[in-house]
Amino acid sequence: MTKTIAFLGLGAMGSRMAKRLFGGENAVRVWNRSPGPAEALAAQGALVAPTPRAAAEGADVVITMLADDSAARAVWLDSATGALAGLRPDALAIECSTVTPGWIAELHAAAAPRAVVDAPVAGSRPQAEAGQLVFLMGGDAGAVALARETVAPLGAAFHHLGGSGRGARFKLGLNLLLGAQIACLAEVLGALAADGFDEKQAVELIAGTAVASPAAANYGRLMAERRESPMFTVDLIAKDLGYAVEAAAARGLSAPIAEAARSAFKAASAAGFGSENVTALRKLYGQ
Ligand code: NAP
Repeated sequence: MTKTIAFLGLGAMGSRMAKRLFGGENAVRVWNRSPGPAEALAAQGALVAPTPRAAAEGADVVITMLADDSAARAVWLDSATGALAGLRPDALAIECSTVTPGWIAELHAAAAPRAVVDAPVAGSRPQAEAGQLVFLMGGDAGAVALARETVAPLGAAFHHLGGSGRGARFKLGLNLLLGAQIACLAEVLGALAADGFDEKQAVELIAGTAVASPAAANYGRLMAERRESPMFTVDLIAKDLGYAVEAAAARGLSAPIAEAARSAFKAASAAGFGSENVTALRKLYGQ
């Protein structure tokens, strides 16, 4: 069935994801806070809406890919320009941003009776471009099935993890695992370099042992080669680790690893590396 899809948030990930929805039988409308990214997509056939509300009016599905809870709150809930102000009662909302389970609960309540699916993704810019993202989905089975059909061109795997908020919860766990490994690697490579080890050789040695995960080997190589052009930024992972700390506190659990990794990335941000790739953390630990 032909659908009208509104895609809101055309940053590094969103612009690549939205592009993959063009060219089929669906009509795609886009919106972004700053106009440049939407104009670039207009040249490729997207209809550009002036507000989230205008993009959502008459749409069957609205997908968001925004920085954080506060961006998502502004885009969905603003009473004058927000997407929910324009969305039909039978339409579907898909939140792909990495956000807190608390925000998903708030969105769920505000959107009712409209269905909401939380669908954050694993994978970065290359996977978004190639339609190889892994979707972590939470919501009612019917809504998730519809969401899955809509985002099919964007992903290689689609996991339905349970009811509303379960995708968001899983994603925070996954990014804690990633952030903790990167934080640890930056510290280890800094120490080895200070002890006179060749960093590239050290990474290859580590990568050849059972200690290294594929992610650690990949990020270790990027650090050793000082490849810091942004894929996933220091500021975004610091945000995700902060959300992991919050989610743990809400369960009455402590999260010392998330706290430590977060404070390392916050220090990198304070040192001016916030918009660089997560691998820029290595710069905190010497040459
Ligand atoms: P990004 O390039 O920084 O894009 C952020 C988007 O959010 C932009 O469209 C930005 O609009 C918008 N935004 C920020 N604050 C806003 C506000 N107050 N109101 C409205 N819009 C606002 O980030 P990204 O890398 O695409 O990541 C997007 C989401 O995906 C994040 O939740 C991130 O954690 C998650 N994620 C990222 C990766 C990755 O590898 N990069 C991988 C998986 C998941 P402007 O263009 O106007 O600034």
